[in-house]
Amino acid sequence: MKNEIDNIYNQAISVIEKITNGEALEALRVEYMGRKQGKLTLLMKNIPDLSIAEKREIGPLINKVKNALTIAFDKKEKTLGQITNSENSFFDITLPGEKFNIGTLHPITQVRLQVEKIFQKMGFEILNPNEIDDDYHVFTSLNLPPQHPARDMWDTFWTENDLIPITHTSSMQNRAMKEKTPPFGVIVPGRCFRHEATDAHHEHTFYQVEGLYIGENINLSHLIGTILTFLQEYFQKELRYKIQPSYFPFVEPGLEFLVSCVMCDGKGEKDKIPCSTCGHSGWLELIPCGLTHPKVIEMAGLDPKKYSGFAWGMGLDRLVMLKYGIEDIRHFHAGDLRFLKQF
Ligand SMILES: [Zn+2]
Repeated sequence: MKNEIDNIYNQAISVIEKITNGEALEALRVEYMGRKQGKLTLLMKNIPDLSIAEKREIGPLINKVKNALTIAFDKKEKTLGQITNSENSFFDITLPGEKFNIGTLHPITQVRLQVEKIFQKMGFEILNPNEIDDDYHVFTSLNLPPQHPARDMWDTFWTENDLIPITHTSSMQNRAMKEKTPPFGVIVPGRCFRHEATDAHHEHTFYQVEGLYIGENINLSHLIGTILTFLQEYFQKELRYKIQPSYFPFVEPGLEFLVSCVMCDGKGEKDKIPCSTCGHSGWLELIPCGLTHPKVIEMAGLDPKKYSGFAWGMGLDRLVMLKYGIEDIRHFHAGDLRFLKQF
């Protein structure tokens, strides 16, 4: 019996070595160690018939062989598993890659960056406004005291504690004048809010770029030169301009800056079709502006007899619409990828 056990062990070990797949290995395990008909199991079933002396010898021997075979089977199983795994993890470099959607900057952000760059080249600094500010900075310090009828032009939202989601980024004028030493120029690009009934040209949320320059002996020619240079650089076009009087409480005189229409080149029509962008007039009323009101300079603690300046507030949304021929301002906030992916 001892020989029989040795034979079974040797046979099993030599066959295990040759096995190349998991199924054959499992079959072999059943053949030798299966609970009912395994070769080793059958031998163990004979143990009760043996003499006590034989039992003492054969019992431990069978156990030893059983343990050795178990280890051999487990080891082989592990080896086969590793081979299978490395087969599964084969990496096919010829497969097409996964597609990633790459985001782009919103057209308003793209244009804001362009505008900032142009003014930075002209020596202007960039300030960021507070999106919610107080009455003093939004109105009073801009020569719009409480009860002033001109406040009606900026119908807006108020918070419960009397703060204002800013109606214009002019809210930084007073701070800029207090913090900086003339001569200085700043632009303030930012998001503004007004109580508007929305349509193709009006939104309750929009973007404005305020500009302010303060120095000595500043006059209208500085204002005109700055704005015209900017617009020609932005539209990459020679433009004609004209100014006409207007009223804004924080400037004196107050003006509208008009340029020849960028869509029809000032002709009022394109291919004999009336230009809808300029309403057939050939002119675009683009930028409300003017020379800074002496009272506004005084309220910031500067001497209006010594210092003068100019300011403007232009709609960033409008600049984007004109540059890309966008017909409806509401596209900007619609979150429609078909629109946004075109930029
Ligand atoms: Zn036109």
